[in-house]
Formats: sequence, C-alpha cells, structure tokens
Amino acid sequence: MSDHIVILGGGTGGTVLANNLAERLGSEIDSSDVRVTLINDDPEHVYKPVWLYVPFGTREPEDGRRPLADLVDDRVELKIDRVTAIDPDAQQLHSTGEVGPIQYDKLVVATGSTLAPDEIPGLAEAGHDYYSESGALELQDELLSFTEGHLVLSVIGSPHMCPAAPLEFVFMADDWLRERGLREDVEITYTYPIQRVHGNPHIAEWARPIMDDRDINVETFFNPEEIDDGTIHTMEGSELSYDLLVAIPPHRGLDLLTEAGLGDSGWVDVDKHTLEAEHAANVYALGDAAATGVPKAGSVAHYQAGVVSQRLASEVRGRPATARYDGKTLCFVETGMDSASYVEFDYEHPPSPAPPSEKLHWSKLAYNESYWLTARGLL
Ligand SMILES: Cc1cc2nc3c(=O)[nH]c(=O)nc-3n(C[C@H](O)[C@H](O)[C@H](O)COP(=O)(O)OP(=O)(O)OC[C@H]3O[C@@H](n4cnc5c(N)ncnc54)[C@H](O)[C@@H]3O)c2cc1C
Repeated sequence: MSDHIVILGGGTGGTVLANNLAERLGSEIDSSDVRVTLINDDPEHVYKPVWLYVPFGTREPEDGRRPLADLVDDRVELKIDRVTAIDPDAQQLHSTGEVGPIQYDKLVVATGSTLAPDEIPGLAEAGHDYYSESGALELQDELLSFTEGHLVLSVIGSPHMCPAAPLEFVFMADDWLRERGLREDVEITYTYPIQRVHGNPHIAEWARPIMDDRDINVETFFNPEEIDDGTIHTMEGSELSYDLLVAIPPHRGLDLLTEAGLGDSGWVDVDKHTLEAEHAANVYALGDAAATGVPKAGSVAHYQAGVVSQRLASEVRGRPATARYDGKTLCFVETGMDSASYVEFDYEHPPSPAPPSEKLHWSKLAYNESYWLTARGLL
C-alpha cells in the first residue's frame, strides 16, 4: 500500500509544497510507495501580489494567472475540484465533483484566506478593494478617474493578507497623485484598528514618520461597524466621510475547517514550529490557513512548505521528523511608485526596515517576475 499525501489548495504554499515533495520523494513516487495529490478549485494558479499594481494601471490581473497544470510537477496528481468537507477521524475529504470521497494518510491544508465584506453593513456596496481580482479592476476604474476629494484607506480587522500592502497602497497613491499634479486636490487618510499604523510595532514606528512627512492623515483605534451614504461609522463612535473608500475587508479562513474541528474562524490551529494541526492527527496546515501568528504572506507559505515537505518525507520513510519553522518572513515594501524598503524577520528577530531605494523597488518587481520559477520549485 502506498502512502497518500493530499495537499488541499494549489496557491503559493500548496504548489511549492507539491513540487518540493515531487523532488524530495521522487524515487518513492516512481516505485508507487508514495502518491502525492494536489486539489485546487481553480484550474489557474493566482499570484495575488500583482493586484497591488492593478488600480494604478501598471499591471493587469492576467499578469497574476497561469494554468496550474503548467506549474506542477508531472509526478503530482492534480485534481481540479472544490472540497466541501474534511472528516479527520475517517481521514477523508468530500468534494463537489468527481474527486471525493478521497482517502488520505497525510493531509496538508493550504486553502488561504477568504474575504468577508458582508460582515460590515454597507461595505460590499460602498467600498473598493485590491484584495480580489474583481475588486482591483473596479478600483482601477475609480482611481484612474479620481482627480479630487477624500481617499480613505481603511484596514478593517486583523489578520489580513500581506500586512504591508495597506501601507504600500497609500505610499504609492501619494506618489502617483504627486507625479500627476493632483496631490493637493486629494486628501489621503489611512485608518487602522489598533493604536498604531501596523500590527508590528517596529514596522509601525518606521512607517508613521513617512506618513506624516507625506501629509497622509492617520486614524488609529478605528474599527468600522457600518458604512452608509459616504460615511464610515466606527465601533468607537467616530465618523469619517470619504469620496473614494479603499477597504481591506475582514478576512476569514474556510468554514469547512472550523466544521472539521480544526480551529476557529476557518483557520487551523497548529504548532507554530512543526505546523502540525493541534486538533487532528496526520494533518498539517501552512500559509494563510495556519494560525501561527506570523503574517499571512506568500513568503511565509513558501518557507513553511519547505518545512512540511521535509517533515512528510521523514515520516513516510519512518524516521523522526525534525524540520521546524522558525517564523521566517520576508517582504519588499513599496514606498512609492519607484522606491521600496525590505524587511526580514522571524520568531526571535524583529524587523528592521531597510532605507527605501529604487534598487529595492526593482528587486520587488524582479521577485514578482521570478515568482513563476519559485512556484515551480526552480528558485
Ligand atoms: C494585494 C495583495 C498583495 C500581496 N503582496 C504580497 C507580497 O508582496 N509578499 C508576500 O509574501 N505576500 C503577499 N500577499 C499575500 C499572499 O498572496 C498570500 O499570503 C499567499 O497567497 C498565501 O498563500 P496560500 O498558499 O496560503 O494561499 P493562496 O495562495 O490563497 O492559495 C489558496 C488556494 O486554495 C484554493 N482553495 C481554497 N478553498 C478550496 C477548496 N475548498 N477546495 C479546493 N481548493 C480550495 C484556492 O483556490 C487557492 O488556489 C499579498 C496579498 C494580496 C491580496
């Protein structure tokens, strides 16, 4: 009998893991001792960081899409289907299509984040976002014709994908409007739910003076509870009017993960070093789906995939699994249309953002281009 490793989710983490396992367990797969199956509900792989550039008209959503089949090693069995339930006791998945029920010996959950704008009355109708392909395209239409008024970027709830992306958006908007001679006619306000402008105090301390220098207004302890007729009403009792609202909607994981008893709000409770699920045997989670406390970022999913791959390879070979995730996160942070900073940190070492430079901006763009090699496991 072969060991069946099933990866649920073919985004950044799931795809890197599938290719890493194909390489690491190549001989076991060839001899049919191990099978690796990757299940994704979309035949296309989506690279979300491209969406940051779509509202400014410098990238299009199709730049962030490639057929998943072109990215995944032939030794991996790729299934396009939507999983609807996990039964951790029976070690079984159920799906809407031809795949289920599917039996697993080891399951890796890599289902990412979903957006929940409906949690805030009025948000879906009034707000724009660049955290979805459709949102980024609609915002592009609005922003390209926005020449005066109040632009509000509101981060609604935490955690959310790429904690730096809201800062990036206001820094880019400021620069982009200045380049076009419109900045004096557009007021920019950034709102954040806690007492500082970013969840990480070191990044907040770095970003705040840049915002002040650029005349970007800041509202902290700002938690929208309703949006109505051009005004945001907050839980704290304040109100803020806007002409263009760019919101980072509340994020959730998948209900099916909570229904399977794996954790709350659709995130899987895991050991933050081993990435093993806390409430089920033979289940790992990585990337956005895993509740580790580190940012929900592609770089995190990538590093975690390496750790899970090593652990699974040890387990199927009957050896102790020793690989551990150390919290490594890296991120280029755009500080304008042609400058960026860079941060790298882990559980032990806090971030210290690099001075912004044009070179770092080009490094970020180069990373985005080389992503397709990274996903294939070639970098
Ligand atoms: C605007 C923006 C900018 C960003 N910029 C950066 C950046 O600069 N650097 C960085 O590191 N990160 C960035 N990120 C975050 C990064 O994109 C995510 O953290 C990363 O994609 C998480 O990878 P993942 O594998 O966990 O999930 P995902 O890449 O989201 O993949 C999840 C996959 O699971 C599939 N799936 C979900 N449910 C099911 C189901 N029931 N059945 C089958 N398949 C399912 C989905 O279709 C998807 O393919 C950014 C995100 C956004 C929105």
